[in-house]
Amino acid sequence: MFLLVSCTKREENSITKTNFLLDTLIQITAYGENADKAIDSAFDRISEIHNKMNVNDENSEVSKINKLAGRGYQRVSGDTLYVIKKGLFYSALSKGRFDITIGPLVKLWGIGTDKARLPDKKEIENVISLINYKDVIINEDKNEVMLKKENMSIDLGAIAKGYAADEVIRILKENGIKSAVADLGGNIYVLGSKPNGKPWRIGIQDPFKSRGSTFAAIEVKDKTLVTSGTYERFFIKNGKRYHHILDVKTGYPVENGLVSVTIIGDSSIDCDALSTTVFVLGLQEGMKLIESLKGYDAIFVTQDKKVYVTSGIKNYYNFNITNEEFKMDNLR
Ligand code: ADP
Ligand code: MG
Repeated sequence: MFLLVSCTKREENSITKTNFLLDTLIQITAYGENADKAIDSAFDRISEIHNKMNVNDENSEVSKINKLAGRGYQRVSGDTLYVIKKGLFYSALSKGRFDITIGPLVKLWGIGTDKARLPDKKEIENVISLINYKDVIINEDKNEVMLKKENMSIDLGAIAKGYAADEVIRILKENGIKSAVADLGGNIYVLGSKPNGKPWRIGIQDPFKSRGSTFAAIEVKDKTLVTSGTYERFFIKNGKRYHHILDVKTGYPVENGLVSVTIIGDSSIDCDALSTTVFVLGLQEGMKLIESLKGYDAIFVTQDKKVYVTSGIKNYYNFNITNEEFKMDNLR
């Protein structure tokens, strides 16, 4: 299927390739002699990660863990184990507001699939009782993972793209690339600076518009920017919007006034986990968390088009709003 959408664009000294993987449109632009081959290797690596972690493929490693839930251990690759362990770290950090065992709830809603629907209260209650990251057991020596209870399931949708973005950059570097931009459906990673030595100017997604419209821009070198928002996957029923970031306490999409959160840092898997975590925590608590962590910054957008940023954004990144409907504000 991805052959249908894959495409290549050549410019004087850069190549851009596009593919559909990890449930999203992925675009990589790289500069330099080896760019063509380097991008192909990066896409091969993304396919590999996709095949290991895709819950819609019953042969993926994550699906195999889920199938054995309550019954036994599944041996997995270092990739899957690493991503699960990162997921558990952020599950613990957020005291379970972010939780990689959210699988049954994600499946119940089916948001972003053709089976999306509004579940009833009883169905929600039944699956909520299955969600608990503390019931993921890891046997480190044997690379094995087990879920304690039957019908539990892991969903790495909140962090797999971040891991893939880190791997893309690692592989581009390995292939001698010094300047590149990878966009994995809102997980952006820029390698180095532009070929002319200037920082990349990256647009921040307008959360009220579909993919590609921006409301602000920021200048970065060697950084990843990950955005989570209500615009990415959702459905509308009786005039109400149901989006894909879920509150494990209520079982419903998070409703806290935020429409998007962008995290900036050096590791895309961490920024991806944090973008979802902070979205769930909300503006006040999320701001506090990011200010307390070294090496991360955040941009929050609320329903009423107010923009809140961490202190690092004001100081370092030449951040500016390009759509004047959006206004900067400060937390009191
Ligand atoms: P996107 O996939 O649009 O980039 P996110 O990184 O925020 O957005 O991930 C959203 C995905 O994370 C959902 O589609 C779902 O698979 C999963 N998810 C939703 N809510 C939670 C949560 N509270 N904890 C962990 N994972 C979640
Ligand atoms: Mg995320």
